[in-house]
Amino acid sequence: MKVLKFGGTSMGTVDSLYQIQSILISDKTQKFVVCSAMSGITDQLINLAKAVKQKNKKNALKYIDLIASRHFNVIDALIESLNFRILLKNEVLRTLDGVLDLFMQDYSKAIEYQVITSGEILITRIFSSYLNLTGIPNIHLDAKDFMRVDSLENPDINEVYRRLNNILTSQNNTDIFITQGFICKNHKNEISHLKRGGSDYTASIIGAAVDAEEIQIWTDIDGLHNNDPRFVNSTYPIPEISFEEASELAFFGAKILHPETVLPAIQKNIPILIKNTFKPYSKGTVISEKVNITGLKAIAAEDNTMMLKIKSERILTNHQYIKAVFDIFDEYSIAPKLVNISNTMISVIINKLEHLKKITVALNKFSVVTVHKDCTIITVVGKSITNDKNFCKIFESKSLCPLKMINYEGNSKVSLVVDSRQKVTVLRSLNERLFQEYYEAIAFS
Ligand code: ADP
Ligand code: ASP
Ligand code: MG
Repeated sequence: MKVLKFGGTSMGTVDSLYQIQSILISDKTQKFVVCSAMSGITDQLINLAKAVKQKNKKNALKYIDLIASRHFNVIDALIESLNFRILLKNEVLRTLDGVLDLFMQDYSKAIEYQVITSGEILITRIFSSYLNLTGIPNIHLDAKDFMRVDSLENPDINEVYRRLNNILTSQNNTDIFITQGFICKNHKNEISHLKRGGSDYTASIIGAAVDAEEIQIWTDIDGLHNNDPRFVNSTYPIPEISFEEASELAFFGAKILHPETVLPAIQKNIPILIKNTFKPYSKGTVISEKVNITGLKAIAAEDNTMMLKIKSERILTNHQYIKAVFDIFDEYSIAPKLVNISNTMISVIINKLEHLKKITVALNKFSVVTVHKDCTIITVVGKSITNDKNFCKIFESKSLCPLKMINYEGNSKVSLVVDSRQKVTVLRSLNERLFQEYYEAIAFS
């Protein structure tokens, strides 16, 4: 079985849905298809949830209208039968009007999650019906029946495996299963989700649970590029990359993959293929265990981080001081993204911006804290990177100054922390120094 995930842009228009249809019928392998909401719909649902929270019915109706009409357009274009069109439109309305009932209840996270995950439910229901009506038999599965996370919000792979296996063994003549990405249930059986961009993660969790031969991430670009193409011009797709490298890039902000996507695939050694829905013939990127190519590979950037510089007041001994600092982060469930330690200073980069006030108050009891907001982590990734002839060029760029932090790890990555306003300049300058010659070799070959 292969798992195929289609992202928001791939689900976003009638033409892109036709494109997915042709990908699904291009070979006979059994497929588990994971769909995101149509592009932009989750953002609108977040606005709808806000309107519910603020008990603002006028705004809620505005967003319900926008979301309903986008889905109605798809239904009108895809579904020939009038009866089915009415049936599907009624389903869309039932789901969205159900949100209005939530105005009667006290607002809670459960309500918020129910609202923001409904985009995936709407479009999978429409797309699955369309395929069935055009003679492509498939079974529509409700991800809430099997996708589970534990009390720490980590996927409960064994539970997913048990539930999915029960479903799949009773349906073993089916070639195509269609389900929603993003949505899950937590250990209290409440609706939850796998964070923004979480459909990638859904796909790899399912892949690991069913021991898939391959996990395919279908998106709007021809593979994982060596740098962020939204900010840098001469980027190129990387044909092959290792699990470790891809995992670091995703963890340090490469938007193309949800940060946790690679981990379930590593556990079961399942290759991940990144493909372009709109150019299915282009090779894309294979992420696997086999890749052993050394040298600098790619750059990723993560915005919305901050640096806390925590200077010891020498009230505690060094080891007590280090423990006290990290106990405070633990108390607020914060895993620092980067840490540098010197004799009297601990510098920490975090991307969870809540609780800052409480954290600084707690730290100030035994240290002096300065907070630098609007930081960006820029991470250069590869295998045995110090052997790369361009390695030292990472530090040559004047645009790096003033540099807030350097963090080197295991000959496999260097992270540079800069002011967010420097981000684009640094990404471009690094791209030119480290990768321009490869880009030219590819472009002119
Ligand atoms: P989807 O909706 O299919 O999940 P996303 O928008 O989440 O797609 O991810 C694809 C986008 O990620 C690309 O269009 C591209 O702009 C952006 N991106 C950022 N970094 C990279 C990278 N290193 N390689 C490829 N795309 C990247
Ligand atoms: N629809 C969700 C989001 O926009 C999940 C996803 O697209 O992967 O974040
Ligand atoms: Mg995505």
